[in-house]
Amino acid sequence: MMSRRDALARALRQRARRHRRRGGILMYHCISEETYDPWAICVSARAFDDQMAVLAQARAVVDLAAFAGGDAYSRTGAQLAVTFDDGYVDNLVVALPVLERYEIPATIFVIGNAVGRTREFWWDGLQRALMSGEPLPDRLDFPFGDGQRAFSVNEQPGDIEANARWRADSGEISTSRQALFRALWDAIVVLEPTEQDDAIDYVLSWAGRTSTPPTSRVAVDAEQFSRLADHPLITLGSHTLDHVSLTDLPAERQHAQISAGHRKIEELSGSRVTRFSYPYGRFDDSSLAAVRELGVDVACNSVPMPAIASDDPHALPRVQATEMDGDQFTRWLREDHGLLRGQRL
Ligand SMILES: [Zn+2]
Repeated sequence: MMSRRDALARALRQRARRHRRRGGILMYHCISEETYDPWAICVSARAFDDQMAVLAQARAVVDLAAFAGGDAYSRTGAQLAVTFDDGYVDNLVVALPVLERYEIPATIFVIGNAVGRTREFWWDGLQRALMSGEPLPDRLDFPFGDGQRAFSVNEQPGDIEANARWRADSGEISTSRQALFRALWDAIVVLEPTEQDDAIDYVLSWAGRTSTPPTSRVAVDAEQFSRLADHPLITLGSHTLDHVSLTDLPAERQHAQISAGHRKIEELSGSRVTRFSYPYGRFDDSSLAAVRELGVDVACNSVPMPAIASDDPHALPRVQATEMDGDQFTRWLREDHGLLRGQRL
């Protein structure tokens, strides 16, 4: 349910944007089915196909490069770009055939050190450990971050269904698993990458889950990366070296993560990289300065709004597409974001 404050913010956003030139940058992560998906980062292959069909029929798709200048903006929000974050292997295996069918260009922002990594991303490990119908022990001592912390799990009837519906960004918590997931997520996001892996191993083992991730839920390897890099519809961008929370780091470490990640993607792809996205959408003046220094044309965050003509091309907002069929997707673009207005679909 939407709070009154959210409803007001939404109404103001819509009014402000109705009168301005705008365009949409769509953000995707995984193209796969997932019952427990607290960040709504998974869109099934079928829904993704429906959504791309809507864009193709509306002749609405532009390459992200159009957002580097003023070309993508119009009063009807008629132009949209497709982006993916992180570099999941399903982008190649599942999404690319759909993009090919509709001839839709897309940008994939890849984490430098994720290429060829065989373990899952920490947030997927946390989701697999905590958010499922499988039972959990009733107490966790978590020895990472600022001192040992103890958590208890106290399952109630109806929790499983509530967890499947739950969105971590809703601000609402109604079960002990949700509280645990949220607290651990906030504690782990700021750890060093190796500590994050240790923390996830610890939680997986505590939860009695295997340390082996589903093969579909990992990043591309070097060979798969090359296939994406060579594909005419795909442009690769960088997403830092280790997917750090930039705003929790001092300026020089932000700079190092941003520039090293960028160099890595350039080395692997053998060409210049001109696009970037901020991990977790988090950025500040230091990250912005480091990104500008790279000389990239466009950088995207995750503020859920259409882009407008006066936006900084190094801090472009994106709307996150979730599991929606074609009709829902069309209504969401038009009614929530003022995009694709007046187009025949
Ligand atoms: Zn990311």
